[in-house]
Amino acid sequence: MRKHIFNAGPCKLSDSLLKNTSEAVLDWNGMGQSILEVSHRGKEFQAVMDEAVSLMKEVLSIPEGYSVLFLGGGASMQFAMIAYNFMKSKAMYINTGTWSSKAIKEAKFWGEVLEVSSKDKDFTYYPKGYDVPNDMDYLHITTNNTIRGTEIFEDLDVNIPLIADMSSDFLSRPVDIAKYDMIYGGAQKNLGPAGVTFVIIKDSFMEEMVADRPIPTMLQYKTYADNGSMYNTPPVVNIFAVRETLKWVKAMGGVAAMEKIAKERADLLYSAIDESNMFVCPVVKEDRSLMNIVFVMKDEYKEKEADFVAFAAERNCVGIKGHRSVGGFRASTYNASTIEDVQALVQAMKDFEAKNA
Ligand SMILES: *Cc1c(COP(=O)(O)O)cnc(C)c1O
Repeated sequence: MRKHIFNAGPCKLSDSLLKNTSEAVLDWNGMGQSILEVSHRGKEFQAVMDEAVSLMKEVLSIPEGYSVLFLGGGASMQFAMIAYNFMKSKAMYINTGTWSSKAIKEAKFWGEVLEVSSKDKDFTYYPKGYDVPNDMDYLHITTNNTIRGTEIFEDLDVNIPLIADMSSDFLSRPVDIAKYDMIYGGAQKNLGPAGVTFVIIKDSFMEEMVADRPIPTMLQYKTYADNGSMYNTPPVVNIFAVRETLKWVKAMGGVAAMEKIAKERADLLYSAIDESNMFVCPVVKEDRSLMNIVFVMKDEYKEKEADFVAFAAERNCVGIKGHRSVGGFRASTYNASTIEDVQALVQAMKDFEAKNA
């Protein structure tokens, strides 16, 4: 039986991805070869790469003048690559938790960082209403904070280049891509298995805004753009799996449908938390993530947290332990997670509370 998977990343993936990828691993298209055994330069894989790129453009309505790239190194490598390429002297970063702090650390190698942070309230809200000075090289935001459970739902209007880490809410809602100069993330939260990184970048930004310093070939975005993400050997099976996700999102009705289901799932779980006398969500209501639902036990029940993780696991709900840096619980409800998954968790919460409160 397939469990109710709430892992934060790697995470639950669609059944069609699992089925089609595993078949291709055993014998791809009846070629008598595994997808793991074929050349990335062959016409079969080239077609997969081309379709992954074109589906990405279609599903997200990416306008002309943008490139879709696949790289290695995860979103964490992007923290370094972004600053290496685009930080000339100073950039602005919105610090909403662990991941943006790591991005800021890399930016400081190359210049000054103007930081707006929600640290004053332990990252339980998303900063708003700050000024964006015009002399910044770019503004960097993290649209969904996987560990803290906050999310920004609007596409910001700013007068400087906008770069967004969308690792954990990519493909979960329609995005006005034209407002961004670059969007990136590790695949392992909404797009596919760990091991490939996606970048959507505005060509004019990539070509004209690069800092005047020597940049190693593999760390230049243009290297990937000029070579169809195949300057070196790409992660073949990962890109195959990404294409499966994109096909699945399209078949499900696209990102608007993903958003609708995400709201239903999140409403169900947040309502259960808010109605409970045992569980509480520390995040302010308007900034609550639809993808990573963070909650804790009220002080008087705190010592029962480990018991609840075990209780939920008996009900086949796995992956709900909070990030090691914050404790409590986190139910990650990415695109492939279903209402039934969330219903099972809500029932476990209610039953646990009835027994223990
Ligand atoms: C998981 C995550 C990262 C790190 O991704 P890696 O691919 O492991 O480097 C960065 N940013 C956000 C928002 C994440 O959720």
